Amino acid sequence: MGAKRRLTKQQSRRIKQNIGSRQQQKQSSHEKSLGPEQSGVIISHHGKTLIVEDLNGQRFRCSARQNIGQAVCGDHVVWQAANEQEGVITAIKDRQSLLVRPGFADRIKPVAANITLICIVIAPEPAPQESMIDRYLVAAEYLNIKPVILCNKSDLLDAESTHAWQERFSVYEDIGYEVLTTSTKLAHGLDQLRDKLTGNTSILVGQSGVGKSSLINCLIPDKAARVKVLSEQITQGQHTTSHSELYHLPDNNGDLIDSPGVRDFRLGHLDRDNIEQGFIEFRPFIGQCRFSDCKHINEPECALLAAVENKQIRQQRLESYQTIIS
Ligand code: GDP
Ligand code: ZN
Repeated sequence: MGAKRRLTKQQSRRIKQNIGSRQQQKQSSHEKSLGPEQSGVIISHHGKTLIVEDLNGQRFRCSARQNIGQAVCGDHVVWQAANEQEGVITAIKDRQSLLVRPGFADRIKPVAANITLICIVIAPEPAPQESMIDRYLVAAEYLNIKPVILCNKSDLLDAESTHAWQERFSVYEDIGYEVLTTSTKLAHGLDQLRDKLTGNTSILVGQSGVGKSSLINCLIPDKAARVKVLSEQITQGQHTTSHSELYHLPDNNGDLIDSPGVRDFRLGHLDRDNIEQGFIEFRPFIGQCRFSDCKHINEPECALLAAVENKQIRQQRLESYQTIIS
């Protein structure tokens, strides 16, 4: 019985090898017609179709080799041209960061790669919640992507409410995050935002209605036209649903990746350690509690509660942590 099974395994391996080498032959004869390997960036992906931009800024509609994994917007790839418009992606280069979202059956789906800056957009309307901001900050810290907080719709604040608002969000500056203020309505703060984006591949995240689309339209004035051209390139006229795009900002002011999946990406399950570490000002106190499994609620000799008492950690941030952990 055992011998028979072994034989069967061996046979099936041999069959697989045969098929493999036949496929290889087929591939290599096809490959003769492909150009040399070159570097490129994925600037759009839509199902199995990817648009690769070469080093000269020329764009090619590409498919990807099956065994290389899912390439996504922002990926640096190795690819080969098949003709003047099409090509084949043969490898994905190492990623600096990868944004994912939960997919079917507990699998995670990559959304965008090599992002270096996350702009967490908030506005007076719809009213922000600190725990939402903190969730994005934890995500950014976990992904090792620099976060900045962007307060948009500053035109909705009068002198008095501006003061209250600054007071409320100064905690983020105190712990070392940058806070920018913009108004797309008054074109206020946009130059500072552009400066911040320069040299980065950025995404804008945050609640619906805070002004992400409006900001993106300010940053990429000809966005609508560019989307149309790209969509046609991808789908060749077929109906298109939403997909991710990487935009070059004018005057070499960096890149911006946009798609619904990017805008409201969620972290999958993070464990308690990841979340604790994501509150960067907690770090000096982690591991200093009397109990190693301290939940920092009401335990004796809790280092975090003591830090709140000593004004080294804001009460609000510890509450936020409790909300995220629960
Ligand atoms: P998104 O859902 O985050 O993409 O938000 P949108 O860009 O669609 O903007 C939501 C609403 O806020 C729209 O009615 C915009 O006109 C408005 N809005 C965007 N930016 C500003 C701003 O700076 N000030 C004011 N007052 N309204 C703005
Ligand atoms: Zn504790």
